[in-house]
Amino acid sequence: MNKFEQLGLNESLLKAILDLGFENPSEVQEKAIPLLLEKDTDMVALAQTGTGKTAAFGFPLIQKIDADNRNTQALVLSPTRELCLQITNELKNYSKYEKGINVVAVYGGASITEQAREIKRGAQIIVATPGRMQDMINRGLVNIKNIDYCILDEADEMLNMGFYEDIVSILSDTPDEKSTWLFSATMPQEVARIAKQFMSEPLEITVGTKNSGSATVSHEFYLVNARDRYEALKRLADANPDIFSVVFCRTKRDTQAIAEKLIEDGYSAAALHGDLSQAQRDGVMKSFRGRQIQMLVATDVAARGIDVDNVTHVVNYQLPDEIETYNHRSGRTGRAGKLGTSIVIVTKSELRKISSIERIIKQKFEEKSIPSGIEICEIQLLHLANKIKDTEVDHEIDNYLPAINNVLEDLSKEELIKKMVSVEFNRFIAYYKKNRDLSSQSGERRERNDSEPREFNNNGAVRYFVNIGSRDNFDWMTLKDYLKETLDLGRDDVFKVDVKEGFSFFNTDPEHTDKVMEVLNNVQLEGRRINVEISKNDGGGRRDHNNRGGGRSSGPRREGSFAPRREGSGGGFRSDRNSAPRREGSGGGFRSDRNAAPREGGFRRNEGGSDRAPRRSESFGDSPRPRRPRRD
Ligand code: ADP
Ligand code: MG
Repeated sequence: MNKFEQLGLNESLLKAILDLGFENPSEVQEKAIPLLLEKDTDMVALAQTGTGKTAAFGFPLIQKIDADNRNTQALVLSPTRELCLQITNELKNYSKYEKGINVVAVYGGASITEQAREIKRGAQIIVATPGRMQDMINRGLVNIKNIDYCILDEADEMLNMGFYEDIVSILSDTPDEKSTWLFSATMPQEVARIAKQFMSEPLEITVGTKNSGSATVSHEFYLVNARDRYEALKRLADANPDIFSVVFCRTKRDTQAIAEKLIEDGYSAAALHGDLSQAQRDGVMKSFRGRQIQMLVATDVAARGIDVDNVTHVVNYQLPDEIETYNHRSGRTGRAGKLGTSIVIVTKSELRKISSIERIIKQKFEEKSIPSGIEICEIQLLHLANKIKDTEVDHEIDNYLPAINNVLEDLSKEELIKKMVSVEFNRFIAYYKKNRDLSSQSGERRERNDSEPREFNNNGAVRYFVNIGSRDNFDWMTLKDYLKETLDLGRDDVFKVDVKEGFSFFNTDPEHTDKVMEVLNNVQLEGRRINVEISKNDGGGRRDHNNRGGGRSSGPRREGSFAPRREGSGGGFRSDRNSAPRREGSGGGFRSDRNAAPREGGFRRNEGGSDRAPRRSESFGDSPRPRRPRRD
C-alpha cells in the first residue's frame, strides 16, 4: 500500500497521483489529508511555500465533492489570476478520473459573462480571486449560499494585497455550517483575525517553523554600488549559463525597464507585471514554463505563488519593502525538494535589511562577490566544452563533413580542440585586455578603502565602537532605539548600527560626537559602565560583520562598451558589438520590438522579420536547433 493510500484517498485519486508522479505525500499533505477526509472541520494549515499545500486541500476536496450534484459546493479563494489558473489546473488534474467534476476559474481580466456561463453549466468547484468573485456576487452571477467548503489559499498573500474587505464580504455570503480551510505560509495578525472571525475551533497544522523559508533554498547576497546593480545582474546571469530565474523588481516600471534592457543586451528575458493584458501575461508564463525565457522579470504581485518547476535562482534585483515578501519570492525556487538559490543584489544602505531577513527566515546569508570577468570567462568556456560534449549529432551534417574534413584534416585532436574553444576564448581575452585597466582600478580602489576607511565614509559620519552587544540582548533595532533614547536624538541620527556579541558599532554625524562621548560614557547599563570610543579600524560606513558593507566595491566596474551577450541557449558571449552579430536565443528570443509592439509588455518572439532581427552567428556555439530542455 503506498503512502497516499494510507491517507485514505480513493482509487481515482490514487490513479491521478500516479500520473502526477508524486511518490510520497509531503508533510503538510500527510497531516492535513486524513483529518480533512475524516470529518467536516475547519482547519488552519501553515506551511512554507513549495510544500504542496494545493494537493493538501485539493485531494480531500475532490474526494468529498459530490460529482452527481451539479451545484456549487466549494469555493477556493486565491490571491492572483496566475495562481487561480494554476490551482484550477491542478484540481482538474487531480479529478481527471473522477467523472463529472467541473472546476471553473474566476478571475479579473477575462470575460465575466463567459465565466458566468461556465458556472451555470455546473461547477462544483469555483477557484476565484477575491475581487472578481465579489463582482460576480454583486451581479448575481453566482450562488455560493449553499457551499460546503471554502478554502482560503495563500491567505497571508490575499490579505497583504488588501483583499480583507472582499474576503469578509464573500465569506458572509456563505453558509455558517460549511467547513473553512485556511492555507498560508505565514500567520500575520490579519490572518489570525480572519481565522478567529470566520472559523470555529479550527484544527491547526504547522509544518516546519512558522515564517521560515524552505530549507532547500540557500541565500546569498552581493554587495554592489547602486549604479552597478544592472551590471551585477548581467554578471550573475553570465556566471550561471543555465540560469532559469525569476528576477524581482519593486515596481512595474523597473520590471519593464530591466526586462527591456536584458532583452536588448541579448538575454532571453521577459517582463511580468500588472500592466500587461491577461493575454500577454499568459503568453509570458507559457514561454517561461516552456523554458524559452531564462529570466522572468516580475513584480511581487504578478509572480505571487507562481509554481514553475526547477527555477534555479530567485534574484532580488531590489529588496521588497516588506520583509515578509522575501519569503514569497525565495519560495519560487527550491520547490518540491529541489535545490535553489535566492540572490539579493544589495547596496550598502540596504544591508541592514539582510540581517532582518536572516532573523525572519532563520537562515544565514552567504556574502559573495560578483564574479570577475575572468571567472565568467572560465565558466562560459567550460560550459561550451560541456555543450560540445553533449551535443546530439544530426546526421544531416554528414553531407558536409567531407568538405569540412578537407579543411581541418591537418590538425591534430589537441590543435582542433584548442582552436574550437578559441573561437570563443579570443573574444573574451580581447575584451579583458581592453578592460584590464578598469578592473585593476577597482582593485586599487578597494585597497584604498581598506586602508583609509574614513574616506569611504562619504557623508563624513563618525563611527563609534561601544562595549554593548547582543550579549546584552540588543539587536540593531533595539540598540538603535536605545541609543536614540539615551542620547535624545532624532529618528535618523543614529545609523549603520552593527551589533556583535560583546560590542557594536554605530554612526552619527560629527555634530553629535561630543554628546555621544559625553553622555554614553557616563551611563550604566545594568550596573556596567558603557564605554564608547570613536572607531579607528571600522571607520566610515564600514560594517565589518562578515565583511558586509566593507570597503569592497562591486568588483570590476562597467565594462566600457562591452556587454556580454548570450544566446538563448546559454553559450558564449560577445565582446564586440560591431563585428559580432547579435545572437538570437535559439527559441528563446524574447525581444521588444519597438516598431511593432506596444511598449507595455510588448514582447513577442522575434521571428526574424523586423529590423532588429538578430542574425545568427557563424560560431558553432550558436546552434539554431530548438533548445533542449535545461534540466531533467
Ligand atoms: P505550495 O502551495 O505549498 O507553495 P504547491 O502546492 O504549489 O506548493 O506545490 C509545489 C510543487 O510541489 C508543485 O510543483 C507540486 O506539483 C509539487 N508537489 C506537491 N506535492 C508533491 C508530492 N507529494 N510529491 C512530489 N511533488 C509534489
Ligand atoms: Mg500554494
